[in-house]
Amino acid sequence: MGRPVPKPTNITKPFWEATRQNKLVIQYCKDCGTYTWYPRPVCMKCMSRNLEWKEVSGKGKVYSYTITHIAPKGFEDQVPYIVASIDLDEGVRILSNIVDCKPDEVEIGMRVEVIFEDLSEDMKLPVFKPSK
Ligand SMILES: [Zn+2]
Repeated sequence: MGRPVPKPTNITKPFWEATRQNKLVIQYCKDCGTYTWYPRPVCMKCMSRNLEWKEVSGKGKVYSYTITHIAPKGFEDQVPYIVASIDLDEGVRILSNIVDCKPDEVEIGMRVEVIFEDLSEDMKLPVFKPSK
């Protein structure tokens, strides 16, 4: 069995359409000026529905991480891999993987930047690698 591929919903569709073009977009609240992650219909902070998708730099730093050694179904050929909370420079925290980095080389506070992995013919997954 291969790696599972996410199914876009009405709410997450703009996100997956952007990743296909190697762009990372995050919902931004036009009322209170806050980025919100993960995708949702209302702003996490002020409950406004006045959200737009904004392209972000894709740069940030590792807030925390864990190394996965026991693979969930579909990820058997990926272990060990790094799952990390990443604080983007825009001030929003997202959960992703860190690639091109050995598990013993990841550090809290390490600078990372987004790259896009092919998941299937028409889907790409944003993951992060150490910044040079
Ligand atoms: Zn808001």
